[in-house]
Amino acid sequence: MSEHKTLLPKTDNPPAKVKDSGIINLVKAGKAVYNAKNGELLFLPEGELALREVKTVLGASLSAEGFQRVDCASDDAIFSVAERFAREWREAARSFCEERGREFRIISWDANAGSSFAKAERAMKSIISGLGESAFVFVEDVAPDAERTFVLASRCEAGDVGGRAGFFCESCGALRFPDSPFGYTPRQPGAEEPEGVPEDVETPMANTIAELCSQLSIDISRTLKAMLYVAADGDSKRHAVASFVRGDYNLSMNKLARWLERERGLTGLRSADKAELRELIGEVAGYCGPVGMPSHVVTVGDLSLVGSKNTVAGANRPGYHRKCCCHPRDFDPPIADIAQAAAGTPCSCGGPYRACFARELGRLAIIGLSGAENGKVKKLSYRDRDGAHDFPFLLDGSFSAERITVARHSDAP
Ligand SMILES: [Zn+2]
Repeated sequence: MSEHKTLLPKTDNPPAKVKDSGIINLVKAGKAVYNAKNGELLFLPEGELALREVKTVLGASLSAEGFQRVDCASDDAIFSVAERFAREWREAARSFCEERGREFRIISWDANAGSSFAKAERAMKSIISGLGESAFVFVEDVAPDAERTFVLASRCEAGDVGGRAGFFCESCGALRFPDSPFGYTPRQPGAEEPEGVPEDVETPMANTIAELCSQLSIDISRTLKAMLYVAADGDSKRHAVASFVRGDYNLSMNKLARWLERERGLTGLRSADKAELRELIGEVAGYCGPVGMPSHVVTVGDLSLVGSKNTVAGANRPGYHRKCCCHPRDFDPPIADIAQAAAGTPCSCGGPYRACFARELGRLAIIGLSGAENGKVKKLSYRDRDGAHDFPFLLDGSFSAERITVARHSDAP
């Protein structure tokens, strides 16, 4: 047996122009080479082993959860396999995973969003426990086209590959992205105060929250912010949309767009210019509030307004704000989770969120397939003697074995 040396070019010199600690550590350990010209990571024998181990875990974790491992090379080919076998093989012909290069593609059809969600959650948990990485978590995110979206993530540093701005809670360790659902109502400042009598006050030129707070000497959490948009219905008719969040929160366009589509059938959410708002709402830009909003305007309030007391809102007349507005006494719009997190926003445990970065390692989205095709994967359906069987929910996504390998080699932030 001949003796061969393994190519393991360890070096003390970090690769040029690379900030990602995972890539730096892989290169220094001689496991990979980084091509700065095209951003490619070239795995050498020891790195290839690490990458292969991740692929093995991904494949095993997914097949343990019922995803059939196939090699069909395209989404269309997987659909044709499902179409051929779904009637006889049921669930076994509706959930697939496929290794494509350094990615694992996931495609699965379900009859309802609930079973799709349960499957996504099981897949995420199985992968995290298979990899044995306590720093990996899955986080719900909100994306425009998906019913629900889950991201496999680990905290990282700015500049790391796949890094996105996020927030983490120092008290409980929860990680979230700006558009992640809150699912809880924050404690309201002034909750113990008696409800005051609403009163319109003159606030000249106070068309920003900061200016309003300064004129009335109030904290930003005691204000209500109105954000105006335009969206279209099925007949392309424009509708004014007025959304309200507590002053210290920001609005999430992604969450608002999802809500409008699901609850009001409105799409194409966009900002409106002053002239358009004047036409659709009237001369109140900068002074919009939920009290006395014209009834043709689509309104929605954020969870952060539930139970808010003695808050200041626009009075829907130029130059005026209304003090002592209370929810639900004075305004009671449909309530939805439409706010973004910001640094300082309270976590469900009460601790404040701090800004961080998180590396996106994989993503599963639950997509409602309306019609025969949505540009992605076709809807699966078949008939048998019990009638028609429709599977209009698609679990669609992928996991990156490359990013997971890099994350496993990166320094803890
Ligand atoms: Zn927390």
